[in-house]
Amino acid sequence: MLKIENLSTSYKTIDGDVRVLNNINFEIHDNEIFGIAGESGCGKTTLLKVLYDIIDFPLQVDSGRVVLSVRENGGTTAYETGKIRNAWWKHISYVPQAAQSVLNPITRLKNQFLDSIPEEYRKNEAKEETLKRVAQYMEELSLSPDLLDAYPFQLSGGMRQRAIIALATFMSPSLVLADEPTTALDVVVQRGILMMLMRLQRKLKNTLVLVSHDIGVHYQITNRMGIMYSGSFAELGRTDDIFRDPIHPYTQMLIGALPRIGDKTPRAGIPGRPPALTNPPDGCRFAPRCPYASDRCRAEVPEFREVRPGRFAACHLVQEEAS
Ligand code: SF4
Repeated sequence: MLKIENLSTSYKTIDGDVRVLNNINFEIHDNEIFGIAGESGCGKTTLLKVLYDIIDFPLQVDSGRVVLSVRENGGTTAYETGKIRNAWWKHISYVPQAAQSVLNPITRLKNQFLDSIPEEYRKNEAKEETLKRVAQYMEELSLSPDLLDAYPFQLSGGMRQRAIIALATFMSPSLVLADEPTTALDVVVQRGILMMLMRLQRKLKNTLVLVSHDIGVHYQITNRMGIMYSGSFAELGRTDDIFRDPIHPYTQMLIGALPRIGDKTPRAGIPGRPPALTNPPDGCRFAPRCPYASDRCRAEVPEFREVRPGRFAACHLVQEEAS
């Protein structure tokens, strides 16, 4: 459904271009929940923006492309970077980071729905008719249609997030991109939002791409996931396999740091910090934090390649074992 080929992007700054994504290659399949994990600043949100074709200054695509393939008019249509916005709402939608503050606090929810639904989708339908369909959709999502008369400031953070998700999925897009949809919510509300996203993906039989720095979120709902580090994927594969047997040292340390019920052993964090994107180290960018780093690691960038069927990693050690 979504193919990302040799994608590199950077931000223009007064001190020169800062490379944020480095030669990214991967695919997202039909009817799956795909997670993108990684520490803050690793490029997750930038990647999601490029997938959604929000490439506004100072962000620029240096090379590569994204291709979205959707079924329409009895065939398949491909939308490439620069044209993906022609598929917005109908085929692809976006739940932005801090979605709760995206809503205009002084406009009733129903007017924000009406303003967001493209005319072409409403097909000259009267506003009342569209609102009836919106109300029906809210009920299907177990949300009270009365919310449509509310102003966002009257709603809790969790309710605003649910409203944004309802808005993003109203036109049954084949692909939904959600950026940190549970951030800044308490644990109980987080779980409710995750369950809502899961139910929606099953109902619409579409694809959900979920960005979260919280690796536990990926464990709960994603089918496959990719772990990013400093602008590239370190590892990618089926979520179950990654949690059962992480193969990249960074993934091993991330998963090793997770608390486990009943296990009171102190958890070791990952020493050090991710490198500054303005001055990344040569070779493998994880080398300054990696207990297995060798001279080769410090000199040569590991290739991101398939090391087992469906399993990809960028690590010299793993690739040596696999070959
Ligand atoms: Fe560690 Fe080397 Fe693998 Fe990088 S390539 S993760 S430094 S072992």
